[in-house]
Amino acid sequence: MATPQDVVVTPGMQQYIDHNNAYLAKRDRYIREVVKKWKFDTIAVHGLYTVEDAIEDYQGAIIEPIFMSSSQAYRDSDEMAAALAYLIPTWCYSRIANPSTYYLEWTLALLEGYGFGGETTACSTSSGMAAIMTAVQPFLVHTHKSVHEPRNFLAVAQCYGGTFQQFNVRLAEERGIECRWIEDPTNLDEWARKIDENTRFLYGELPSNPGQGFFDVAKVAELAHAHKLPLICDTTVATPALLRPICHGADIVVQSATKSLTTSGFGVCGMVIARKNLVSNLPNDAMKSDFASYVKYLPNRDFGPNLHPMQAIMTLNDVRTLRSKMDLLSQNTMKVAQWLEKHPRVEQVEYLGLPNHPRHELASKYMWLVDSEHDACYGGKRVNRYGHLMSFCVKGGADKARSFFDNLQRIWRATDLGRIKSVATIPAISTHQQQGESGRKLAGIPPNMVRLCVGGEHADDTIGDLDQALSRVK
Ligand SMILES: *Cc1c(COP(=O)(O)O)cnc(C)c1O
Repeated sequence: MATPQDVVVTPGMQQYIDHNNAYLAKRDRYIREVVKKWKFDTIAVHGLYTVEDAIEDYQGAIIEPIFMSSSQAYRDSDEMAAALAYLIPTWCYSRIANPSTYYLEWTLALLEGYGFGGETTACSTSSGMAAIMTAVQPFLVHTHKSVHEPRNFLAVAQCYGGTFQQFNVRLAEERGIECRWIEDPTNLDEWARKIDENTRFLYGELPSNPGQGFFDVAKVAELAHAHKLPLICDTTVATPALLRPICHGADIVVQSATKSLTTSGFGVCGMVIARKNLVSNLPNDAMKSDFASYVKYLPNRDFGPNLHPMQAIMTLNDVRTLRSKMDLLSQNTMKVAQWLEKHPRVEQVEYLGLPNHPRHELASKYMWLVDSEHDACYGGKRVNRYGHLMSFCVKGGADKARSFFDNLQRIWRATDLGRIKSVATIPAISTHQQQGESGRKLAGIPPNMVRLCVGGEHADDTIGDLDQALSRVK
């Protein structure tokens, strides 16, 4: 952790430091020798919250407490001085850290790092957009060279509408940082061609919302690293239950935890998960050695996009059953997609799980239900799962799509996804409205596209609602 140079460590502070170092060594051992050996579900259920923690510190509460407290008190000035110099783990003030967000962060760090040989850490944020901002800003700083130095980054054009706006308007238009859009992320030459000496990072979303864009993470990570650049991935749609980019070489993962990670829909939440010792062409060693802790304790301390402890526990509670939910929701979506594909009023069903999808094969290389090989019901074999986001176009143009949409009876009309309840939207008039016609064209969003996120209802009932809505299209 970055510590101010001029801190004088008193003997009293040293006692706290020694005590906490012993605690950290014990925690690291626990992670290495116990938690890292657990299966995904066990990590999701328990994270780092132990019986011992509960009994010693939290009156035996079996669920992680919600620490609705703005700040932490210290025993004496030595403890305060050590804490505020970041010489000991502390949560000092809830904008910086909090015990409830701590447990969520560790759970997500361990889940995204499941199957990865190295170490991962995480920083929670107030939303998915805040997570993206948190992940990209440190790479866009001016170096000592010049305040006018040109800076650029590469990003997939098929991305979430909010991401498009953050990059295109806030960064490019307002601050002159060039965003080089990748139109076909499956084409490695396009990525390679757009990198130059002023590039700071590569950014990809997979699968993309709503276009089901995908790319070869391992190959793009390899290319990025050959240029000393980090690869940042948004895998909100997949969640770590289906895809963990850090295991394939990516440096940072951003999650809109609002979505499938908080399936219940109880609020807005974001996560940044990074591997330790990531790759960057910038001379900032603290950032490179432990990116998530760096952003948590320094830039985010100063910008303040932190997560509320109440939300942290809401999200954590949903994450415990992530794997089985992603399995069920993916299976339901597959049934719905197969049904829609045969419907005469539907064209262009986009779901990576459909064998005729142009990126099916690529997605199948990466999207697996974690630990399915240990599930007796899958006969010891790994199974592919593709998540619960899909889209399709209603034949006959924008008006027909709106007619169908208005006919839906139980599927909710909302700009949301990742829910246990089925939700549909028309991206051109909602999530991708603000980027205009040309931006939508770049992202591949036709006006008659309906985005559907299939929930946990029985697939027959979801199909029933779609059927009646399609049959009444005027
Ligand atoms: C929703 C979403 C975001 C933004 O997350 P919020 O939590 O709404 O701020 C980012 N990326 C993807 C893929 C999303 O679906």
